[in-house]
Amino acid sequence: MSAQTPNKETAEGTLFIVAAPSGAGKSTLVNALLERQPAISLSVSHTTRPPRPGEQYGRHYYFVERAEFEREVAEGIFLEHAEVHGNFYGTSRRTVQDLLGQGCDVLLEIDWQGAAQIRKAKPDCVSVFILPPSRAELERRLRGRGSDSAEVIERRLRNSRGEIAHAHEFDYIIVNDRFEDALDGLQAIVRAVRQRAGLQCQRHDSLIKELLAEG
Ligand code: 5GP
Repeated sequence: MSAQTPNKETAEGTLFIVAAPSGAGKSTLVNALLERQPAISLSVSHTTRPPRPGEQYGRHYYFVERAEFEREVAEGIFLEHAEVHGNFYGTSRRTVQDLLGQGCDVLLEIDWQGAAQIRKAKPDCVSVFILPPSRAELERRLRGRGSDSAEVIERRLRNSRGEIAHAHEFDYIIVNDRFEDALDGLQAIVRAVRQRAGLQCQRHDSLIKELLAEG
């Protein structure tokens, strides 16, 4: 099998990006998607944000000190990194490349700045933006979370406009009004992307050759 026609095992996975303003329900949607589609790996980011109650190191984030994060930036370990709501976040280049190289689909839950960096590094990524159904509902969801201080909530609400202003840069937009509908929409995107002709021609190279063979 030539490098141009990799088989099912060697075709690179797809990199999905999901972004949203805080409170749009992105993490709940992504977790539900991963239950329906366990073949997608969620990339665990590094952050300087302190853990929320119940968050675990290595599962939700790699929680690091600011100095360590800066050292990691200098070492070039991040595929993308950004300051969001006063904290630093970054995606490990190695983890993502390894998984994609093994043919696994990878999902990044990152902000618009990270998404813009990834689009440059990996133009064939697929990006999805989640919108809340209204400003009032965004505020209600943010306040209802119960794990952030009033100051953090205010800052996230203020910053939501800056995030939403970039929604048009994404390949897909989903309005998370009824949760099940939003989840169906997200899953439909993943399914459609997996059936794209470019990917399918790689994966089913031998099938297509067999079907084209004369006699
Ligand atoms: P939170 O502190 O609520 O977990 O996340 C705050 C924001 O940072 C969210 O918009 C989230 O998507 C974003 N974020 C989380 N990890 C990363 C990352 O690795 N890179 C970037 N650019 N943003 C991230």
